Amino acid sequence: MVKLLIPTPLQRFTANRDEIEVPATTVGEALDALTAEFPALKKQLFNDQGNLRHFVNVYVGQEDMRNLQGVETPVRDGEELSIVPSIAGGTGVLEPTRSEEVTLSNEEILRYSRHLVIPEVGLEGQKRLKAARVLCIGAGGLGSPLTMYLAAAGVGTIGIVDFDVVDYSNLQRQIIHGTEDVGRPKMISATETLKSINPFVNVIGFETRLTSENALQIMRDFDIVIDGTDNFPTRYLVNDACVLLGKPNVYGSIFRFEGQLSVFWAEKGPCYRCLYPEPPPPGLVPSCAEGGVLGILPGIIGVSQANEAVKLILGIGEPLIGRLLLFNALKMNWRELKLRKDPDCPICGPNATIKELIDYEMFCGITPHPEETVHSDNSLEITVQELKARFDRGERPVVIDVREPYEWDIARIPNTRLIPMNEIPDRLDEISRDEEVILLCRSGKRSMAVLEYLQSQGYTRLKNVVGGVLAWSEEIDPTVPRY
Ligand SMILES: [Zn+2]
Repeated sequence: MVKLLIPTPLQRFTANRDEIEVPATTVGEALDALTAEFPALKKQLFNDQGNLRHFVNVYVGQEDMRNLQGVETPVRDGEELSIVPSIAGGTGVLEPTRSEEVTLSNEEILRYSRHLVIPEVGLEGQKRLKAARVLCIGAGGLGSPLTMYLAAAGVGTIGIVDFDVVDYSNLQRQIIHGTEDVGRPKMISATETLKSINPFVNVIGFETRLTSENALQIMRDFDIVIDGTDNFPTRYLVNDACVLLGKPNVYGSIFRFEGQLSVFWAEKGPCYRCLYPEPPPPGLVPSCAEGGVLGILPGIIGVSQANEAVKLILGIGEPLIGRLLLFNALKMNWRELKLRKDPDCPICGPNATIKELIDYEMFCGITPHPEETVHSDNSLEITVQELKARFDRGERPVVIDVREPYEWDIARIPNTRLIPMNEIPDRLDEISRDEEVILLCRSGKRSMAVLEYLQSQGYTRLKNVVGGVLAWSEEIDPTVPRY
């Protein structure tokens, strides 16, 4: 006979018994005998394919059976087997006591009735949701759908960090904001929408940029942090702050038709740095503003992040810890990759070298003050007014537009030639070294990078159009569409 030790959350399936003795010679036989005696337990421990669920660990004595021979591990007479669900019942992200003082009004009971009738949620789960505090970094593409669903589901406190103002070009995907919100702070617009969906939700707005100075302070009081950012410095900042605070980080990212999703929780699995120890060089991976994103995609990824957050709060299911999901909207498939904790991870490894938050802009290779760099050398700049004046005087300087052809189709300004940025190195023979060359893009950023590249190739008579096509549209010709 071997003795199985049943954890508290599973005891309701074993007639409240915490120890069960069964005859067995292997771990597998012991589990079979246990679930034969208590059939309701089977669904808790095994998935539909009959495999032990990812979040259930079985220990033989002190040793995880995965380090032995798994379910084939032989067991001696009198051996103790412990079933240890990593996230189940009372071992979710919330201390069980947190929901004890929470009550639901009759109005709330009616509102959440479709939750209350699910056994895995029930009244206890709904109280947990109400007790939970979830922080979303960013009220943009991912933050919009995920906070709306969290509010509807009854997550009691939703924090949002965002300092931006709603732009007309946000509306294609940031569904928390409406057309009438253009020009208003995202924080105000988002709070109003969430309150309208569910007035019982407490929305806490942080109208600021998340920085190494304020991140720990802002994140400290929340149970779960959801990463809805669109830039690498903030992503690493969110990761490191979560590791230092011991909080789960529900990660999502989007680009064009592809999305990524995972749950990073250093205490139970890998962190973002275990997956990506270093950021890509600046400029290599374009942002959504430069690269574009299908408007539906943040909906799919953001709502999946909300789903993971709710599972962590309820302590049910198999969270995405140690798994990375890759979604492709064109192929319409999800691929799953296993993630392992990196023993050399500088923030969550045993020999971690990072003990506090660092300068993430510098870590990501971003010059601290790009604006100042651009403006410090006025001889490299030309404003749209100056350019227009030169056109008006009949001058025809060489103006190279370095945007992509599909951007050229949307909007262009007169007397310019298109050579997309990535074709420049192969088409240097088309660019005169003797004449002045003026470079143009959408906002002036990419063309500045091209200017620096051409300087490195020996070009000396270069100028960058400040503000690019957007400035032309704003200051010279409003019929040129902004995008
Ligand atoms: Zn790590």
